[in-house]
Amino acid sequence: RARSNGKNSYLLFDGQMKLELLEKRKLEEDMKEAFANEDFDLHYQQQVHVPSGSVKGYEALLRWEHPCGTFIPPSDWIPLAEETGHIVAIGDWVLRKACLTAKRWHDDARNAFTMSVNISALQLMQPDFADRVLAIVAETGLNPCLLILELTETLLIQSMETSKNQLNQIRERGVRIALDDFGKGFSSLSYIKQLPIDIVKIDKSFLDHIEHSLVDRAVVESIISLVQRIDMEVVAEGVEDQEQLRILQEIGCHYVQGYYYSRPQPEHIAFPGNAFVS
Ligand code: C2E
Ligand code: MG
Ligand code: MG
Ligand code: MG
Repeated sequence: RARSNGKNSYLLFDGQMKLELLEKRKLEEDMKEAFANEDFDLHYQQQVHVPSGSVKGYEALLRWEHPCGTFIPPSDWIPLAEETGHIVAIGDWVLRKACLTAKRWHDDARNAFTMSVNISALQLMQPDFADRVLAIVAETGLNPCLLILELTETLLIQSMETSKNQLNQIRERGVRIALDDFGKGFSSLSYIKQLPIDIVKIDKSFLDHIEHSLVDRAVVESIISLVQRIDMEVVAEGVEDQEQLRILQEIGCHYVQGYYYSRPQPEHIAFPGNAFVS
């Protein structure tokens, strides 16, 4: 009896694993199809210069609306796109589209909005990463000074030297590099020491309780004074209410991004130039 119980639970476990694999395979199939059908889209979220209240630029964020009408959040499928390598082609598509949008907005508004694009570690690990980025920028006609690449700390430590070379090639042409989700990982400080970084984005988790937590406030204050001392720019992300904004102003953080100002919006809504039209 014990043996058959063991067998049953093995079968159950096996069945669950198969189900998970099937779901993953299905998701991967759907993802490939969505890419081929151009079901992906980019939304854009403002980054605001608080003292002047003006929009400094935008972050492009991938959106996938499944044909059945549900929106599948990036956190649910980008890891799979990374695991399967699809993120490299998707990443090129994102970069091209974001650059084209930025170029058009720049031409329409005659204003120098920056465009921030998220880059996966797998993209950065491609030996021709710098060439690809620079080719796409050139092809779209965007001034490279308006482009910002956002990287997270998931980069592999051992590829640090290669990453550094790739990033330096891109920076030589005026593109800037931002370190995303700063403080969330374990090696944030060693990254800003070793990689050519221009901008640091403070992770939302430090702002969530900044009104009540002296520790979080102290951490954010320290990050800001550190970053400004080494001439980097700092952006606080995930600012949702006025009290958070007030504290950030008090601390001297000039750039913020968050629902308080605006959610990520489709292209035709995100661009303030359109406000004059309607
Ligand atoms: P991220 O780059 O840190 O982007 C910021 C995320 O915070 C976005 O989530 C944005 O919608 C959300 N956010 C902004 N302000 C607020 C706020 O005030 N409150 C709250 N609760 N959330 C806020 P989203 O769009 O779901 O994207 C999640 C992550 O997926 C991104 O984090 C990024 O790591 C990844 N991602 C998105 N688009 C791309 C892409 O094109 N390529 C790659 N490789 N990754 C992407
Ligand atoms: Mg980002
Ligand atoms: Mg972030
Ligand atoms: Mg992130």
